Amino acid sequence: QTYLADIPLGAPDAILGIAENFKKCTDPNKVNVCIGAYRDENGKPWILPSVRAAEKIMMDDENENKEYASIAGDAAYVEQAIKFAYGQDCDLSVIAAVQTLSGTGACRIGGEFLSKFFPVKKIYIPDPTWGNHIAIFQEAGMEVVRYRYYNRATNGLDLEGMLEDITNAPDGAVVLLHACAHNPTGCDPTKEQWKTISDLIKKKNLQVFFDSAYQGFASGDAEADAFALRYFVEEGHNVMLAQSFAKNFGLYGERCGTLSFVTNDADEKERVLSQVKKIIRPMYSSPPIHGSSIVRTVLTDEQLTKQYYEECAFMANRIGSMRKLLVDELKKAGSTHDWSHITSQIGMFAYTGMNSDMCDELTSKSSIFLTRDGRISLAGLNENNVSYVAKAIHAVTD
Ligand code: PMP
Repeated sequence: QTYLADIPLGAPDAILGIAENFKKCTDPNKVNVCIGAYRDENGKPWILPSVRAAEKIMMDDENENKEYASIAGDAAYVEQAIKFAYGQDCDLSVIAAVQTLSGTGACRIGGEFLSKFFPVKKIYIPDPTWGNHIAIFQEAGMEVVRYRYYNRATNGLDLEGMLEDITNAPDGAVVLLHACAHNPTGCDPTKEQWKTISDLIKKKNLQVFFDSAYQGFASGDAEADAFALRYFVEEGHNVMLAQSFAKNFGLYGERCGTLSFVTNDADEKERVLSQVKKIIRPMYSSPPIHGSSIVRTVLTDEQLTKQYYEECAFMANRIGSMRKLLVDELKKAGSTHDWSHITSQIGMFAYTGMNSDMCDELTSKSSIFLTRDGRISLAGLNENNVSYVAKAIHAVTD
């Protein structure tokens, strides 16, 4: 016997565990509305045609190679990614940025940086939030504190609660904000509310950490979805940003993202970059190159960029039409509940308001797989299954 005999069994990941159960389920009517990955109208994963076109260009390019990227990744990709987020006219001379292993990797490297250098080792994250945020920042050595975000009674933003909790945070702590399409609630502050939040954060001298995993998925327009980030930068916040291209480019498995810091001058930028690289080098040395080459190829080609924006809008629109269809089908099934929050929410998810018992029942009786917080990934719905799902939801919520 070795020490391995004493290793306790770890709990499966809340989301990925459900995805495993879906795979095992043999019910022909089974529906996966658990995981946040886009599906086309036939329920199949979709490679964006602009991504395919970029891959073809890369295949045919004799200068392409499989060399290592540098620790900070492909500089040309990083530049395009940063302009995509902060705007074409952003001041690159003060933005310290590295390529990361998608949004998760960006959050983790950012967390490691904060825990190493930031004086107040407390990060305030919304309640609820993407489940992995808690583990990521705790594993990085930060204390995770929650701020109120969502009002379950009104199915809307709890702005008052949010402002109160941020007011009570110690000056100089970190506050994590979802840049757009808040996961899991699909509920974002309005422009006016963002301004109020920015003013308070400035007054309290808090460090803003934006997590942007859905730019383009909220409104269908990646420019419009960058409002909060760009507004905060305009207002003088030295924000940090974790950026993911998993959803908006459909590059989930390519693990392609960035982590960036808006610094005060070029010298500060260099020093920050040098320390971020010191965190990355002993962790995974350098990032993968395929996904970043795709994003770089698309965003440096005017025609492909235009095509890409249309395809991103197409995904957002399909999801938007599923929202409407789900509510229509719920009414048709006889539900008299107010489901209007489903159509007012944005992004990939509907935060239905169903409790965990209802979710369990949906899974056990109808083989509909979802997280136990009542979140439904609208991308998993299509014209063939939406009526089945609506009837099942009606049956557990009636
Ligand atoms: N942040 C949020 C809010 C997310 O929803 C996700 C993906 N579910 C991520 C970050 C990171 O995803 P990835 O590592 O695939 O980019």
